[in-house]
Amino acid sequence: MLVAESQASLLVWNAPLAWDYLAAGSYYLLPVAMALLLEQWFTDHRPWLINLVWKVHLIYLVGALGLSAVGAINLSSTFPPFDLLFLVSLVTISVVVIQRFRDLAMEQQIILLTYGIFCGLLILDMAVAHGVLPWGRVPVSWGALAFSLSVVIISLVHYARNQHALHTLNVSLEQQVSERIRKAESLVHREQARVRLLTFENEKNRVLNDIIAGLQDCLSLNQAFNYLSRVMPDLCSPLRGALYQRVDDGRAYERLNYWGYAREIPDFALILDTTDGVPEATTLPPRYRAFPEDCEDDNSAGLKGSVCLYLDVQSASEGMLTLGLLMVEIPDDFASEGADYGAARLFHALDQGLQRISITLSSISLHEELQKYSYEDALTGLKNRRYFNQLLEHESAVAERSKVPLALLIVDIDHFKRFNDNHGHEAGDSALKTVAKVLLQQFRDSDVVCRFGGEEFVVIMPGASLAGARDKAERLCRVLRTTPVQHGERNLGCITLSVGVASWPECTSDPAALLGLADNALYKAKESGRDRIEGCPTDLPASLD
Ligand code: GH3
Ligand code: MG
Ligand code: MG
Repeated sequence: MLVAESQASLLVWNAPLAWDYLAAGSYYLLPVAMALLLEQWFTDHRPWLINLVWKVHLIYLVGALGLSAVGAINLSSTFPPFDLLFLVSLVTISVVVIQRFRDLAMEQQIILLTYGIFCGLLILDMAVAHGVLPWGRVPVSWGALAFSLSVVIISLVHYARNQHALHTLNVSLEQQVSERIRKAESLVHREQARVRLLTFENEKNRVLNDIIAGLQDCLSLNQAFNYLSRVMPDLCSPLRGALYQRVDDGRAYERLNYWGYAREIPDFALILDTTDGVPEATTLPPRYRAFPEDCEDDNSAGLKGSVCLYLDVQSASEGMLTLGLLMVEIPDDFASEGADYGAARLFHALDQGLQRISITLSSISLHEELQKYSYEDALTGLKNRRYFNQLLEHESAVAERSKVPLALLIVDIDHFKRFNDNHGHEAGDSALKTVAKVLLQQFRDSDVVCRFGGEEFVVIMPGASLAGARDKAERLCRVLRTTPVQHGERNLGCITLSVGVASWPECTSDPAALLGLADNALYKAKESGRDRIEGCPTDLPASLD
């Protein structure tokens, strides 16, 4: 409207009629635009009235411009009715606005005020144009300018605010994105650590399974501990440690092996019996006690450093015994290298591994004891006849293969029935124990002394000739003649022995025949008056070839 009514507009586009139409159109649009705006602002306050205003003015605009364009009416004749209609609309709008003016935002109030000023000037101008007021120049353009400026300035303020909000939103979005990236990265790191941990645990499980399989091949606890001392470093690394074995009836533990230490560590761990009966290794770190929460990675407080794990083994005769101690310690540089694993988790896993090892050791121990009972004579502690039979077979085969002589002695107590009758059966048992003790003292470790049954004993002497075996038998009889049988406080006097000796290859070409030959010789000794040694006949050439 401002542009169309200025003279300068003709310089831009020299079409006065068009500018007139433009000015009229802009003028007629004023109430339409304002009513449309107010309809948005007052959705709950008589919107139908405002809606009616803009629709009426829009119809008027289209009708007036259309009719004058087709030449039905003159454009200038459309102004007076519009002024009247505009005046009515302004009053209507003012009534609606005044009621709710206080509830509006400041920007809306400014727009309405400048619009009001603009409209006020327009009404003055109308009054002058229609001769209601004396002629004078009304500054309508200033009003239009004020209204336009207020709209522009408020738009700019809005634009600035939007830009600021957009910027803030951008910053917050960027922060959210970087936070998500950080979380994703930490998730990736945790997953990587978890994979490393699982790989580590798998590897340790494999080592543990190998150890268990190796242990199952062991026939005795000593053999098992020798094996454990070799393989424990594989299971425990990266922890350094030491393995101890129970000695001296559990009064001490002897170090079998240690790994990962630059310094020497104690050869022995001493045991101090505590009041609750649980042994505690005084020279070692405290005993590890598992709590379920220990396996949580981060719950390793108090577990940094070193602990001692106990290898508890079930024994048939003595119950549960701590046969081994495993001391483990976290190396100083472990925190940086193996932080993923968590000390508590490592100790916990190791403890469980050790429990599996303990179960295997228990089965070895029980098997060993079973073996012992089935091959040992309960009264004398010597090997029994079953063992003797197997050993003789084995030694005969070894002697033949390696062409080493083999001698066999059968020892029988003289008049033992009489001894029993005179002193009682229990005293007889003491006599049997005395003979067993002397037998063990008189023969070498490589010789095997067995109780053959009743008051008869056999001695297998690998590598001994007939003469050598006879010498040993002579010495045995001599010693026993001067060793009185003690039964409690009572001295029951000495007993004598008769001994039959046979040897391979001097007496027979078949070592399996030795038992019969020695028995014959014993019979001869008895026949000849007892308390003597008889050998087998040696008419065979004593050759090993
Ligand atoms: P000989 O000089 O001919 O060998 O006569 P002996 O009395 O020693 O032989 P005999 O075979 O007649 O008697 C053996 C005795 O040994 C009979 C049995 O009561 C006794 N005896 C066997 N085993 C045991 C044992 O475990 N404890 C005790 N106290 N006596 C036993
Ligand atoms: Mg006998
Ligand atoms: Mg006898």
